[in-house]
Amino acid sequence: MSTSGAIRWVLTPVFFCVRFTTMKTIDAFDRQFPSEESCKQFLADMRWPQGVRCPRCNSEKVYALKARPFHWLCKSKECGGRNGYRFSVITHTIFQDTKIPLKLWFKVGYLMLVSKKGISALQIHRVIFGEDSGSDYHTSWYMCHRWRAAMKGDALKLTGEVEVDETYIGGKEQNKHKSKRLNARGGSVGKIPVIGAIARKGMVVAKVLERVSHVDMEQFVHETVKDDVSLVATDEAGGYRLLKRQGYPHETVGHYKGEYVRGNVHTANLDSFWSLLKRGIMGSYHKVSKDYLPLYVNEFSWRFNNRKNPNAFADLLTTCSH
Ligand SMILES: [Zn+2]
Repeated sequence: MSTSGAIRWVLTPVFFCVRFTTMKTIDAFDRQFPSEESCKQFLADMRWPQGVRCPRCNSEKVYALKARPFHWLCKSKECGGRNGYRFSVITHTIFQDTKIPLKLWFKVGYLMLVSKKGISALQIHRVIFGEDSGSDYHTSWYMCHRWRAAMKGDALKLTGEVEVDETYIGGKEQNKHKSKRLNARGGSVGKIPVIGAIARKGMVVAKVLERVSHVDMEQFVHETVKDDVSLVATDEAGGYRLLKRQGYPHETVGHYKGEYVRGNVHTANLDSFWSLLKRGIMGSYHKVSKDYLPLYVNEFSWRFNNRKNPNAFADLLTTCSH
């Protein structure tokens, strides 16, 4: 067998396996949400667990419009009194202002959640509409971006043992994992700096930086790491040099001299997250512009932080209103 034949022989079952798993989860999802109404009901339950509230004035005194299911009227003074303000289950959500059925929205969001390595809008489009569909791929692209915006997550403060590090995304950097320290410090043209912090066995927080400065790096640590943390592990980048003086139990490894681990001082967990992010972006999205990178960082962080959450989809629905 030729080498390419062997590769094909190995890859084909993998491909079918991925496809089969995806289809299986979609089947289960379709059973949970058989109709547009079931989606609306679920969204209403997740959005207003204590009962429907007006998305404009937050009043609880709202009246269901009998002729229009999942529509309500708010008659508060703020919302115009007797004439009132009409809203629906999708008002002020990422689903607003489109004619896309909720069932389709849900399916796209769900596919994004179950695709651990990331899934491109094109892949989603193929899974949902099939190869030869005449429907517009840009609709899938638009839906993916709106879901990513909902994946912004809560402002987290990490505790325990925390690793902090930066990475650079874009250009040829993606192919040079091992040499990233050699050429990337300080950033370079075409590469976008991303800073992150991870609590060991816990959550990750990552953020695209406009520029890599001491002030920005320090500020990120102050925003994301609790004061009572037991360790802050970084490399010897200058941006972290004042952390000890600021009261953090800060330890460094000298990446520049080839030191990557010293006892529990390392950034291996964050490195794994960076590879997941980079491989995902490379494998599924190919090229990511600076404008959209924060959205992809949202997506990968959110999925990572909810990797063991059986209610991830329901929780995501609680963050899709604004
Ligand atoms: Zn109101």
